[in-house]
Amino acid sequence: MRMRKKKNRDSRMNACAEYVISSPADFPNPDRKELDIEIGCGKGRFICELALRNPDTDYIAIELSTDALINALELAKEKQIRNVRFMNVNAARLCDFFEEKSVSKIYLNFSDPWPKARHAKRRLTYRTFLNIYQRILKESGCLCVKTDNVGLFESTVEELSATGWKIANLTNDLHNSVYNRDNILTEYEVNFSSKGFAINRLEAYPPEIAAKNAD
Ligand code: SAH
Repeated sequence: MRMRKKKNRDSRMNACAEYVISSPADFPNPDRKELDIEIGCGKGRFICELALRNPDTDYIAIELSTDALINALELAKEKQIRNVRFMNVNAARLCDFFEEKSVSKIYLNFSDPWPKARHAKRRLTYRTFLNIYQRILKESGCLCVKTDNVGLFESTVEELSATGWKIANLTNDLHNSVYNRDNILTEYEVNFSSKGFAINRLEAYPPEIAAKNAD
C-alpha cells in the first residue's frame, strides 16, 4: 500500500514540477519588485489567492509536508499562477537558501501550536526562528501572523517583544475587525472559524526598523 501511495505521489509531483524549486535562485525574475514568502502553506489556498491578487509580487511558499504540498502545487497549476513557486524544506533552513534582506513579507498562518512548554523551541515564532526571519527580511519587511490558537499567539507576542520586534495592527478577532477587508482565508482558518474560534492576527517589524522608529 505504501509503495502505491508513494508512486502516486511521485507522479503527481512530477506533473507539477514547474512549480517546485530547490532554492530561490531557481525562480529568477529580473523585473522582480517584491518577493514574499509563506511558511507552512499547507494545501496552498492562501498563497495561490494572494499571488492572483498581486501579480507584480513574486511568492515562494515553504512546506515541510509533501502530502500537503502536492495539493498546493496542483492548485497553482490548475489556476495557472505565474508568480508563485514552492519549496519542500524545513523553515529552520531558510538562511541556507535565501539571501540576507531579500524578502519583503513573511506570512505564518495557523502554524503548529506545540502547546507543551518543553516543545516551545519548535514553534515557528520561537526566537531562533525570529532570528532567521530577521536575517532574510528587508529592513522595511514585515512578519504577518494569523492563528486561532491563543497559547501560540500569546507566546508569539512574548517572543517578538523580548527580541525587540515592533508589533502592529494586532487583533484577537480578525473577522470582526478592520483588517478583515482584504483577508484571504486559509484552509485552517475556514475550519476553525466555522467551529466558532476567533482568529488572532498581528504584523511585526524587525528590530532594526523598530529601533529606528523609536528614535
Ligand atoms: N497555513 C495552512 C496550514 C497550517 S498547518 C493553513 O492555514 O491552512 C501548519 C503547516 O506548517 C503544516 O502544513 C506543516 O507541514 C507546516 N510546517 C510545520 N513546521 C514547518 C517547518 N518547520 N517548515 C515548513 N513547514 C512547516
